[in-house]
Amino acid sequence: MTMLRIENLHATVGETEILRGLSLEVGAGEVHAIMGPNGAGKSTLAYVLGGRPGYEVTAGSVTFQGHDLLALEPHERAAAGLFLGFQYPVEIPGVSNVQFLREALNAQRSARNEALLSGGDFLKLAREKAGLLKLDMDMLKRPVNVGFSGGEKKRAEMVQMGILDPAFAVLDETDSGLDIDALRTVGEGINAIMRKPDKGVLLITHYQRLLDYVKPDKVHVLAKGRIVTSGGPELARQLETEGYEAVAA
Ligand code: ADP
Ligand code: MG
Ligand code: MG
Repeated sequence: MTMLRIENLHATVGETEILRGLSLEVGAGEVHAIMGPNGAGKSTLAYVLGGRPGYEVTAGSVTFQGHDLLALEPHERAAAGLFLGFQYPVEIPGVSNVQFLREALNAQRSARNEALLSGGDFLKLAREKAGLLKLDMDMLKRPVNVGFSGGEKKRAEMVQMGILDPAFAVLDETDSGLDIDALRTVGEGINAIMRKPDKGVLLITHYQRLLDYVKPDKVHVLAKGRIVTSGGPELARQLETEGYEAVAA
């Protein structure tokens, strides 16, 4: 079953067309990696899927679990089970991670007419997911991302993903700024949370190394706003040794 189907997607930021006919299909139970040079449009794709203001779709379609994703507001996309992990996580002074995560989870549950979690049940869930990502519970009591190292921000984001338990995750350079140990922890966290027959992942990355832990079913090269080459995991290794120019020119 196809979870995410992107067809001939064109999108502009300001006056500039960044995505130029991008097509991609991710099936249930699959992890797809998107690699590509700087400025190719990888983050733009993540923002367009999330519905970020300022990113205008001018042609094409995106279907998520059979629904027209582009017709949904950003919060409706999240409630429908789409999670986005960003290259540059935001800081929210004055709001603790625990407060933020419980609000986010209960907003989604409420949108799906599901029962809200009590404080106690939520803390139990948060503790379990923090343990999975080796993030100290004390970190979750601090304001969102304020004073967190790059690696702590990424692990906190994966705790958030674990708590929200989305059907589909788009992760934009989740491996950036991670040391070797954090990379393994985050990779194993992604597998534990998202490697399920009814879920899907789009993993945007510059490097092969995260793919050693989260093994992709397919690898795509994004260049100049469209997918120019697709293959299996071996394509990522070939890119690493030969470079984008040689492989995707
Ligand atoms: P990648 O994530 O693959 O490195 P991006 O999606 O961030 O690439 O950017 C793709 C292109 O879009 C780049 O040329 C970038 O300069 C341009 N771009 C991104 N955001 C904006 C913006 N807000 N305004 C104008 N141009 C932008
Ligand atoms: Mg970039
Ligand atoms: Mg980017």
